[in-house]
Amino acid sequence: MASKLEFVRFPAPDGVNGWWETLPPPSPAASVSSGHQYDWVVVGGGITGLCAARRLAELAPDASIALVEADRIGRTTAGRNSGFFVDLPHDISSESYSRSVEADKADVRFQRHGIDYVRSTVKQYNIDCDWRDDGKFHASVNRKGHNALAHFAEGLARINEAFEWLDEAAIAKVTGTNFYRGALFTPGCSTAQPAALMRGLAATLPENVKVFELSAVRGIDDQGPSKVLTFANGKVVARQVVLCTNAYAATFGGHPNGLLPVYTFASMTRVVNPEEVKRLGGTRSWALIPADPMGSTVRRLATDRICVRNHFAFRPGLEVSQADLAKAKRMHQRSFDRRFPMLKDVGLEYTWGGPLCLSANNGALFGRRDDGVYEAIGCNGLGLSRGSASGKLIAEYALGHSNDLIRQLLNQPHPRSLLVRPIADVAVSAAIWVKEFSAGAEL
Ligand SMILES: Cc1cc2nc3c(=O)[nH]c(=O)nc-3n(C[C@H](O)[C@H](O)[C@H](O)COP(=O)(O)OP(=O)(O)OC[C@H]3O[C@@H](n4cnc5c(N)ncnc54)[C@H](O)[C@@H]3O)c2cc1C
Repeated sequence: MASKLEFVRFPAPDGVNGWWETLPPPSPAASVSSGHQYDWVVVGGGITGLCAARRLAELAPDASIALVEADRIGRTTAGRNSGFFVDLPHDISSESYSRSVEADKADVRFQRHGIDYVRSTVKQYNIDCDWRDDGKFHASVNRKGHNALAHFAEGLARINEAFEWLDEAAIAKVTGTNFYRGALFTPGCSTAQPAALMRGLAATLPENVKVFELSAVRGIDDQGPSKVLTFANGKVVARQVVLCTNAYAATFGGHPNGLLPVYTFASMTRVVNPEEVKRLGGTRSWALIPADPMGSTVRRLATDRICVRNHFAFRPGLEVSQADLAKAKRMHQRSFDRRFPMLKDVGLEYTWGGPLCLSANNGALFGRRDDGVYEAIGCNGLGLSRGSASGKLIAEYALGHSNDLIRQLLNQPHPRSLLVRPIADVAVSAAIWVKEFSAGAEL
């Protein structure tokens, strides 16, 4: 009997994405039109969907492939983030390094696999997205943060990863601010202008991929040998479907399934003028994450803007309110003022939020569902590198390939469902609040 997958949540504006707004206007969007048939339809034009569509096209050059995106590519979460392609586990004060060294190494291999794929595409097509292989700084502001970094450094040593300590003066020389007590530099992280990167990846897809934007899939009917995708203005038939909708898969069929849409927020300043640049000092471009994962991520951009990210909010309805955005902006301004007292007249020009896709047990969805639809969903916070890798690998898996990384993804745990959902929802929000409160000075 035919089964149906229904989407009940769609991307919302969620503030004004500074990365997108500071780019030249996009080319007009092509929307999906009814009655077409494709060998493959990839749903979701974030980093995962872009890599899945590219890899399918590379491996099956004669196949017809459609990539369908509900909004504009580059305007949604994959183009809203802080642009860190992180190669190492992120949650540096967690217990992850007490796991087996092999499991940690496998995670690093997986994340580097994604970064390498995107980097080589950026280089091959000369994608103009400020791609940098400059590494990142993990900075601490107090003893607690320093201890977390020391714990992280021990883990890095165990898996033979390079790092370098910077004292207070050395990190001030990079950032121009005396706010940080010290930092750990790790060289394997790359950064990019995320909206420019997503647009560039879409614009350089192989010829057998057609990109459709402003085309939200409403439902997918499993009709045996083919799937029928319903859009607002008609239907499209596909032999195979790959879902790369990340957090928007949290309520498939209207039922929660263990995926937790947790929003985080960012703000970008106006352009800092040459006199202010002189007052700030430091180097022209740097990327810094906090010792406490709930603290503030900060990037100084070569465009002379500064980007601050912090604050998390669990929003199962996949939409944030004006009050959420106003609160995030207040928090960002406070974090900015504490770090950059020499730039006190520099306001935040853009503030926005976007959903991460977390789960209680760090599980993710990868593989073929019972209805025959393929899926790569659940970035758990490191979506740029992990999404790049899982997008590439779901395409390989769907085309019958097998390798260690695919097996690693097939063996990962599924997101654990939270029973008694309304109570669990309150517990998730409370847990975030407690963690954020304890991040204190790192915010
Ligand atoms: C402020 C912020 C900072 C962040 N910083 C970082 C960072 O520095 N590094 C990092 O690794 N991660 C970061 N993240 C997380 C990162 O952005 C995500 O992990 C990443 O975008 C996941 O990629 P994805 O392609 O799997 O999902 P998404 O980027 O969410 O893409 C899914 C796409 O599916 C589309 N879609 C949904 N439903 C439908 C439908 N029905 N029909 C058609 N299309 C649909 C959506 O519009 C969306 O474009 C950050 C996130 C935010 C919000």
